[in-house]
Amino acid sequence: MKLTANQYPQESARVLREEPHVRDSVTGATLNFDGKRRLAYAEVDAETWRHWAEGVKNHVLMNLDQYLLQAEASLKRNGVQVHWAEHAEAARRIVAEIARAGQVKKVVKAKTMVSEELGINPMLEGMGIETLETDLGEYLIQLLGQPPSHIVGPAIHLNLDQIRQLFHQRFQTPTGASPEDLAAVARKLLREGFLKADMGISGANFVVAETGTLALIENEGNIRLSTSAPRIHVALVGIEKLLPRFSDLSVFLSLTARAATGQRLGTFVSLLQGPRTAGESDGPEEVHVILVDNGRSSVLADPLAWETLRCVRCAACLNACPVYRQTGGHPYGYVYSGPIGAILSPGLLGLEETKPLPYASSLCGACFQACPVRIPIPRLLLTWRNRAVDEGLTPKLEAAAIKGYALAMTQPWAYSLASKAIRMLPHKALDNTIVPVLKAWTQGRAGLEPSPRSFHQLWDAGEV
Ligand code: SF4
Repeated sequence: MKLTANQYPQESARVLREEPHVRDSVTGATLNFDGKRRLAYAEVDAETWRHWAEGVKNHVLMNLDQYLLQAEASLKRNGVQVHWAEHAEAARRIVAEIARAGQVKKVVKAKTMVSEELGINPMLEGMGIETLETDLGEYLIQLLGQPPSHIVGPAIHLNLDQIRQLFHQRFQTPTGASPEDLAAVARKLLREGFLKADMGISGANFVVAETGTLALIENEGNIRLSTSAPRIHVALVGIEKLLPRFSDLSVFLSLTARAATGQRLGTFVSLLQGPRTAGESDGPEEVHVILVDNGRSSVLADPLAWETLRCVRCAACLNACPVYRQTGGHPYGYVYSGPIGAILSPGLLGLEETKPLPYASSLCGACFQACPVRIPIPRLLLTWRNRAVDEGLTPKLEAAAIKGYALAMTQPWAYSLASKAIRMLPHKALDNTIVPVLKAWTQGRAGLEPSPRSFHQLWDAGEV
């Protein structure tokens, strides 16, 4: 996908200015999800669950080499063909080869963020293969030619009127069609797609190393159909998605659903054990699992950022984030948005390509409280900000101003000198017209007016 993360400040401002409905739609939906998440956490001993899940994922990451080999062996034992993709290009090449060998003409896709990350749809379409997104939200944004705006709810930025309009233009539905009528139209189209497809592409929420089980959570039933109706199933799986034992699944499945949508369990949970075997009446003839690195190894090797890989892509941090809520995911300029995008994207793509993202946060800590695997997102945001400073990626004037501020706050003589200088400035001197560095701040706020007398003077006079 086209990468525009460095345009985050301009893009987020543009969305706020020109697309106010996005803020309304995203805020409404995320507050709803987050409220349900809180209730679902309150039903269980969520702190114990979160600590346990953190421990399991840490264990997997510390022993990832062994678990990957174990997963490969288990998958092969189940009849699955396992492929390794070091980067996006390799993954695309593997998918293309599978499609060519299987003479694939039509593909149905279950929602998978890894596929977005790898640019699978444009590659397939370039080969002349018809590609149909079957998650309703993904289908909507495919019709619009947009990337996802949210990990779990890709069309979260659209309101009902926009969807009505879209369906009216594309399928001639009445302009006042009910959500049920719109869903019925989509269902009919998607059903036909499942029946005609040669290949289904999915991700996986988890892969169990012990048993080679692919676990997928969903609410629409489209994953179940995408992975079982076509004769070929391809699962794109990030290498961090492993769990050691089958017995680990139950808590992870429930914890992920609670974090994502406030459900005790997803409406459908598929546990896939490989292709159709002799005597079975349905299921794919071939199952391929592509284990994708694409930058994950370097995140794992990073002593300060490796914890990012605990992520189960539940989007609870997006729903809890007061900054994400204002704009949705598009301004982040990459497939992963919100707090997880702000710490994962620099790790996968490099800080030079994603400089503004770690600053897209108020550091309120709500993301950490929501995260089912206790990723210390606020600390990691600061890690990337520190690196941006160390690598000279922040504006020089800002770095100088912060150094000056640090001096004033740690040396009494410097504080006294600075406060005297500020008090000598004329009225409104700190307005944006005179001090450009404050322009962004004062654009939406009153200009700063220094007090004529210092705190010490007021104190000495007994006035405070
Ligand atoms: S960082 Fe945590 S809350 Fe955010 S998507 Fe990942 S697992 Fe979910």
